[in-house]
Amino acid sequence: MKKTLICIDRDGTLIHDTREHLFLGRDNDWQEQIGILPHVVEGLRLLNTIAGVGIYMITNQAGVAISDFPLLTEERAHEVCRYVLAVLKGEGANLAGHFLCPHATPEYAARKPTTNFHAHLVHDCHCLKPGLGMVFNALQAEGITPDNADLYVIGDRASDVQTALNLGGTGASSSPLSMSREKAARWQKCTLEITSMSRKTCLPRRNSSSPACLSVSANRGHEKKRDRRAQWKSD
Ligand SMILES: [Zn+2]
Repeated sequence: MKKTLICIDRDGTLIHDTREHLFLGRDNDWQEQIGILPHVVEGLRLLNTIAGVGIYMITNQAGVAISDFPLLTEERAHEVCRYVLAVLKGEGANLAGHFLCPHATPEYAARKPTTNFHAHLVHDCHCLKPGLGMVFNALQAEGITPDNADLYVIGDRASDVQTALNLGGTGASSSPLSMSREKAARWQKCTLEITSMSRKTCLPRRNSSSPACLSVSANRGHEKKRDRRAQWKSD
């Protein structure tokens, strides 16, 4: 039986991602700044009912690369992630673990000329979404390969959807940056879609009726999957 692997973005998808919550962990009161978004707990509980599912949080944390945030070390960033998972677990919404990318691309650093960076963390890495490093970490943690898994990525950014497309899975763009009811409802739509697909073990549909969800055909996905894996190995 194929295993279902679901990778979920953190900021703006599981927790608030407004200006004051940016670079969570850069201040000492970061715990008080964490707020779980509406529908997340219910959505995760639903995803938890899929047999043999592996759910992981994968998050780009470029703030770790910024030397102007001395408190936001890589260890602090992991601490924040573990805390988010613990809060969710307390609500009966279980994730198996998390992976984070502490890097910033040279382009990102160039766009912030007044910001100071740790030079060793500024480079083009494998892990920054839409790169596949963190998804591969999750696959490895589950002991599976893309060939024997149904893969999903849930996130609010184009990079999240692109991550899924890069793997030939189904990218489901979910909860957005705002808290509007219409947008929060996408979490429900998205989780329902994943659970129904997993139960039917049907192929992802090419065109989804939901604007928040994106699907790719199995064949096209397979080609892309191979390409990316070849790329991954050569990296
Ligand atoms: Zn990285």
